[in-house]
Amino acid sequence: MTSSIVMSDCLLGTPCRYDGGAKPVCSKACLRLASRLNTIPICPEMMGGLSCPRPPAERSGDRVLTCEGGDVTDAYTEGARRSLEFAREADAGLAILKSKSPSCGSGCIYDGTFSGVLVPGDGVCTELFRQEGLTVVDEKLVEWCEPTVEHPVAIVLGSGLGALAQRVKVVRRIPYTDIDGFPVEAIPVDGHRFEALVGTIDDVPVVVYPGRIHMYQGYSALEVTSLVRHAHRLGCRSIMLSCASGSVRGVAPGTVGLITDQINLTGQNPLASAEGVAAAELDVPFVPMAGAYSAYLCELARAAAHDAGVDIAEGTYAGLLGPTYETAAEIRALANIEADYVGMSTVCEAIMARALGMQVLGLTLVTNHAGRADNNHAEVLAAADAAAQATQNIALGVLRLLGTAQAE
Ligand code: SF4
Repeated sequence: MTSSIVMSDCLLGTPCRYDGGAKPVCSKACLRLASRLNTIPICPEMMGGLSCPRPPAERSGDRVLTCEGGDVTDAYTEGARRSLEFAREADAGLAILKSKSPSCGSGCIYDGTFSGVLVPGDGVCTELFRQEGLTVVDEKLVEWCEPTVEHPVAIVLGSGLGALAQRVKVVRRIPYTDIDGFPVEAIPVDGHRFEALVGTIDDVPVVVYPGRIHMYQGYSALEVTSLVRHAHRLGCRSIMLSCASGSVRGVAPGTVGLITDQINLTGQNPLASAEGVAAAELDVPFVPMAGAYSAYLCELARAAAHDAGVDIAEGTYAGLLGPTYETAAEIRALANIEADYVGMSTVCEAIMARALGMQVLGLTLVTNHAGRADNNHAEVLAAADAAAQATQNIALGVLRLLGTAQAE
């Protein structure tokens, strides 16, 4: 069965706004996303018993007041509660809610003075949804992430995922040696060709990087992240990073892991130099890494896995320098700091992508139990091949859900 989401009804074109729909806010990107998932429309204000049209309202402290001074807090609270019931009944993990609204807004809302000033904060419904563990994003993020030829999705393919490159309808090939900052002497392994493929997968614009270099080969953090900067320069706003990893805390080999957070234990950081800061187009290098893996893309990956019938394990990826595999003591230490997967890539790429403002999705193919004496590269590659199809199905599902404006 198709996965469910909830969405603000006004984003679907329903005239439920306070002004009765005099200012339509329907989002075409949201309409397209809604058509690809089982979408439950909600209007918390109407569900709280408010009329349409109604006086505008804004949050003021812990109350919600209309511009006429009426206190509508109870209606907003009831509407949020009923909306949550709808979300729970549909088993929805993702809510796409209209920005700035005192009920649906996320991240910033009007300040209660009815003067158009925005302040950090959530609407009443968003606040409740977040307390209950739902992911809430607004229509602007959906629009921003929708791939176009100008803004394709970047995909970096790790061990075992090379076959996805064969799905690309290629319009242009870019040798990695033409990529600024990529080391010209680098030689691909495992039959990869070091050339970026610009084109489409199932009509969705993509740039696929089939293979990467690693710091354990002697390359710098800045060099290994040159592909990310290239993708950003090509206009990519979202990037899928895929990799193989070892299991730290019991996830079975052959499982597809959804990376929800990371621990950078490489001792390197691509932003730890003036050159890196400049390459990331930053003034200062202090990039917040909390939430580095896009909650929105994670929800699309969960939906894609559900729809493909693939079980995924979610967890934290620890990046080590390598190239040696981990000792048993190192794996115990990693388990103690709550890492689920361990590998030798991805973390610096995620840092660079985050610094560049990209939405990051991390998929890892769990190839072995880490920390065992018989860990070897052949085992990793064999397991990666065996489970590659499931990972590819999730990646393809995410692309399908992201969709494209230009396919219509
Ligand atoms: S409460 Fe939410 S869904 Fe209803 S009109 Fe306001 S922003 Fe739209």
